[in-house]
Amino acid sequence: YLELQGIRKKFGDSTVLNDVYLSIREGELVTLLGPSGCGKSTLLRCIAGLTELDGGRIVLGQQDLTNLAPRNREVGMVFQSYALFPNLTVSENIEYGLKMRGAGKKERANRSEELLALIDLEDKRDVYPQNLSGGQQQRVALARALAVQPKVLLLDEPLSALDAKIRKNLRTEIREIQKRLQMTTVFVTHDQEEALTVSDRICIMNKGNIVQDGTPEQLYSTPRTEFVARFMGSYN
Ligand code: ATP
Ligand code: MG
Repeated sequence: YLELQGIRKKFGDSTVLNDVYLSIREGELVTLLGPSGCGKSTLLRCIAGLTELDGGRIVLGQQDLTNLAPRNREVGMVFQSYALFPNLTVSENIEYGLKMRGAGKKERANRSEELLALIDLEDKRDVYPQNLSGGQQQRVALARALAVQPKVLLLDEPLSALDAKIRKNLRTEIREIQKRLQMTTVFVTHDQEEALTVSDRICIMNKGNIVQDGTPEQLYSTPRTEFVARFMGSYN
């Protein structure tokens, strides 16, 4: 469904993505797991169209996204640090993308109520981001990404700025929402436990390559290299 075909990216002389191939089925949650600097965020940004490729193609369903502008890609993204608009309320944040697309007030309000119910924040619709907890802000960021009904959801370490307990609750919640919506999702983390709990499939990345790709069970029980074993915590 989402096909990455030989993605290459360089910054100056350093190769950050080195011929990455990845196929993701519709409704699947695939996690990119790997150390800092291995190219996870860059790969997500390439899918979203925020970073230009040096080679390769990105295909979604029947459509070649490679040369499409970000707003035409039907891809939603949530970042590590809360990137909500501070001067807009929760419901205004959620409705922002719809407004940009010219949706009417009624449609926006309906959609926003639906999403507020999904993230269980109906009582916060008129609150400003600064008055929300970190976890609540990330739920709003998720709702905002989903508002325009993207075909793919990209989550770049959406939990890493949160406290351990909130992080665990929210990862379960995100997984439930993702399953309910059958949302094709690429989830980035460097936390192996998080990857093991939320994923249909995990891709271990190192230095711009996917070094092993499999179900959580496969990666945990039969790591192909010592690097993967260490990363999965199946070896000390
Ligand atoms: P982290 O887990 O720390 O978020 P990451 O796997 O997301 O790491 P990337 O952000 O994709 O890593 O970065 C991969 C490499 O590309 C790093 O060496 C980084 O310094 C470099 N890089 C990323 N963006 C740029 C840029 N705009 N200009 C130059 N180098 C960049
Ligand atoms: Mg990153």
